[in-house]
Amino acid sequence: MKFLVTGGAGFIGSHVCEYLLEHQHTVFALDDLSTGSAQNIQDLKKSNQFHFFYDSILNESILSNLIDQCDIILHLAAVVGVQKVISSPVETIERNVKGTEFVLKYANIKKKKVLITSTSEVYGKGNHDRFSETDDLTIGPTFIGRWGYACSKAIDEFLGFAYYKEYKLPVIIVRFFNVIGPRQVGHYGMVVPRFIDQALVDQPLTVFGNGLQTRCFLYVKDAVEAVYKLALSEASVGNVFNLGNPHAISISDLAKKIISLTNSKSDIRFIPYHQCYGSDFEDMMKRVPNIEKINHHIGFLPKTNLEDMLKEMIRFKTSARESSKITPPHFQIQSL
Ligand code: UDP
Repeated sequence: MKFLVTGGAGFIGSHVCEYLLEHQHTVFALDDLSTGSAQNIQDLKKSNQFHFFYDSILNESILSNLIDQCDIILHLAAVVGVQKVISSPVETIERNVKGTEFVLKYANIKKKKVLITSTSEVYGKGNHDRFSETDDLTIGPTFIGRWGYACSKAIDEFLGFAYYKEYKLPVIIVRFFNVIGPRQVGHYGMVVPRFIDQALVDQPLTVFGNGLQTRCFLYVKDAVEAVYKLALSEASVGNVFNLGNPHAISISDLAKKIISLTNSKSDIRFIPYHQCYGSDFEDMMKRVPNIEKINHHIGFLPKTNLEDMLKEMIRFKTSARESSKITPPHFQIQSL
């Protein structure tokens, strides 16, 4: 089959492309390298089934052309990362909403199946022990930047369902819960690659808030396999799915684990939220997915445990540093 992967040079997108090529598919990847990188797809370019287009999702002529040529669209292109979202709120909302609008508009002309990737951020600050797809979304006030991102992805979801209901376009929506793995970078937030970079050079690990907030981390290869199965399943059309690992860890414990796995001399520095993300920042204390629905549809269960994910990421970062001899960036916390 022929897949169009928007955001194909991004962290998750590049793993999606790799998986599709391994399964003998043809891949068109569209990416403007705004947060992705050419390095992510370096090895994929060796395959003659891989076709990379360096352009924006907002370039309608190239997008419509690629949609015409493919069988299925996996829409991953988006502005991501709490830091990026807070420092570029206009770009975040415009790109996320317009990008999805264009994908759906052109997919609808030829009735091509679309899988839209969304995020657990849409659950906002709800205080559930675990989040289910039927739960209400509890978004904060409009003057707080983080919720603009959550809302932009929620609008993407509403639009996806609107096309499904009104035009019978086959649409599937997937909400990622903190996907991590090799090639992920810490420049835009993303706690795990940041902590690993810091630990590898014995800098303090910057824990925001009191570190008691928890997150559930899913390995990218587990995520990609699930995305692929959902995309091929007819029963998934017209549905939204949580995709995550229900095992939670506090950010403090995560920092300790990474220090121990890297044998680092780093210590932990607690930084108040207002110093990293501005005075009106709101974090979620926990965000655990209920994965019953996706388990029921495609038999999904996470395969990789946290320690193995971290070891793999540490190995990847260590060898990337050795081969490039580039010192990782020094992490400066800037007030906004
Ligand atoms: N975090 C942290 N130090 C960092 C980056 C993030 O303590 O250098 C915290 C952040 O405040 C949040 C958690 O780690 O509570 C996960 O952050 P990330 O940006 O990776 O994902 P998200 O907030 O979207 O779940």
